[in-house]
Amino acid sequence: LPPVITVDGPSGSGKGTICRLLANALGWSLLDSGALYRLTAVAARHHGVSLDDVESLQVMAAHLDVQFLSESADGELKIILEGEEVTQTIRTENVGADASVVAALGPVRQALLQRQRDFAQLPGLIADGRDMGTVVFPEACLKIYLDASAEERASRRYNQLISKGLSASLEDILIDIKSRDDRDMNRTVAPLKPAPNAVILDTTKMTIEEVLEVVLDEAKH
Ligand code: C5P
Repeated sequence: LPPVITVDGPSGSGKGTICRLLANALGWSLLDSGALYRLTAVAARHHGVSLDDVESLQVMAAHLDVQFLSESADGELKIILEGEEVTQTIRTENVGADASVVAALGPVRQALLQRQRDFAQLPGLIADGRDMGTVVFPEACLKIYLDASAEERASRRYNQLISKGLSASLEDILIDIKSRDDRDMNRTVAPLKPAPNAVILDTTKMTIEEVLEVVLDEAKH
């Protein structure tokens, strides 16, 4: 089996950035599992499926027509859903909120399980999500859990949006992050929590470079 490093944690903990840098540094492929939940929510909206229609959502998830194309040198993936590029549109706060609603449904998670496992390939996989170490890749060779205070995560997201020239409210982002945490940590299926053997890193006072250094060091052991 190809080696897998799992990176789990709440939204805004820096997982996405760290996983991209790790995948580049090691030359491994990348699974952005959150994108699959976001894509399921977007596909449901496209097809007029309501977010409480569990049976149809399960069918959507099982038959997602999606391609992840690695095009740019920095490892950023281009995402195509049913022939249409959705790389940017799946990143909005609304889609994130919808994703956390469909992600609370057991049948949807079950439908996406094998698809996620199929990302494992040589020389290795970096798996970014909430349940990578606990459910999807329990045999991973290294499990990382990234955390940071809600205030710090909100301010990182705020700065990200501002740097892209978008308008944002720090207060609204903090409320959104807290409600997403609440849904992700308190749902009955695959709640967000560190795997028993995970390396837990509180990144509140760390830079991206510092986090990457610690994780690469762990990966060498
Ligand atoms: O990581 P990202 O913000 O893209 O994930 C969107 C939502 O998808 C999360 O808030 C969470 O509810 C859900 N998710 C999940 N399991 C994963 C990845 C994401 O439940 N492995």
